[in-house]
Amino acid sequence: MMEKEILSFKYQLEKKEPRLGSGGITRGASVHDFPASTGIAGVSMRLEPGGMRELHWHANAAEWAYVLSGHCRTTIIHPDGSSYIDTFGPGDTWYFPKGYGHSIQGIGPGECHFILIFDNGDFSEDHTFSITDFIRSVPKEIAAQNLGLSLEEVDLLPKKEVYFALGDVPDDASCISSPRPIPELSSKHRYPLDAQQPRRIPGGGTQRLVTSTEFPISTTMSGSVIELQPGALREMHWHPNADEWQYYISGTAEMTVFLAEGKAVTEHFETGDVGYVPMGAGHYIKNTGEDVCRILIGFNNGHYEAIDLSEWLATNPEALLQGNFGISKNLAEKFPSQKLFIKPK
Ligand code: MN
Ligand code: MN
Repeated sequence: MMEKEILSFKYQLEKKEPRLGSGGITRGASVHDFPASTGIAGVSMRLEPGGMRELHWHANAAEWAYVLSGHCRTTIIHPDGSSYIDTFGPGDTWYFPKGYGHSIQGIGPGECHFILIFDNGDFSEDHTFSITDFIRSVPKEIAAQNLGLSLEEVDLLPKKEVYFALGDVPDDASCISSPRPIPELSSKHRYPLDAQQPRRIPGGGTQRLVTSTEFPISTTMSGSVIELQPGALREMHWHPNADEWQYYISGTAEMTVFLAEGKAVTEHFETGDVGYVPMGAGHYIKNTGEDVCRILIGFNNGHYEAIDLSEWLATNPEALLQGNFGISKNLAEKFPSQKLFIKPK
């Protein structure tokens, strides 16, 4: 399928017609919208203050997120009954294991915009189970018995899936003032990626990376934010253990995805575009603009692995490179002698 049908590794997510609801806006890209993205799906979601993505779970994917702007609060329950409330701001990430029930609510001031990444390209609303949809899908008598309500009271509940709902902006007191079991106010599901000291390549750019090493609960996904200076190149490389999903936060870039046997696709990316690289496929990203290019990258593996071209070349004998390329010793000596990662302009 990949060789014959896939022509593009780019999807213009922010140009997609959004799903609108009370208090929220969402744009999603699964493999059904973006055929190349078989291993990872993504969503761009915005919540107003008080707007919530209702209580739900995902049957076939874990959820990794990065907050671009604003603030939000999440609730999540684990199968052991423990529950957690976390608060997020710009540059923070979250991770929710597959199947765990959760909610997200904007807490203001202003809109909260975040990118959700799912470790299954077949993720879709079909595999997302909302609490209102669950309750209205069982016989009314069952809902009444389960919730301790009369049939008339069950009639007051939503008749169809709510998905987005507009509630009050929560305050901390609301978390602990109810007679219910008290959730932990925790950072178990939060990792503040932008607070990390980045790997810096002078003149080239920076990388921040979060894997299951830094963020233990994130066992199936890793994430990264890369900044490329104008003209800088995230060098030719591949990832042995993961597909790569990219969201272009700002700037413009060019990427080639190399699929072997002479097949390669070169495309240009702008703010709000999504890129995808299948596991093992060679690629680079070059900043083609005048400003810093900022890219959010998600991987569907908790461990980060990459093989960079420069390091591969640098760790092979020059004689082997001479023979491999049929070149002089003089020319082989010009190849990189150490890992570049990002090559400045
Ligand atoms: Mn979710
Ligand atoms: Mn990559």
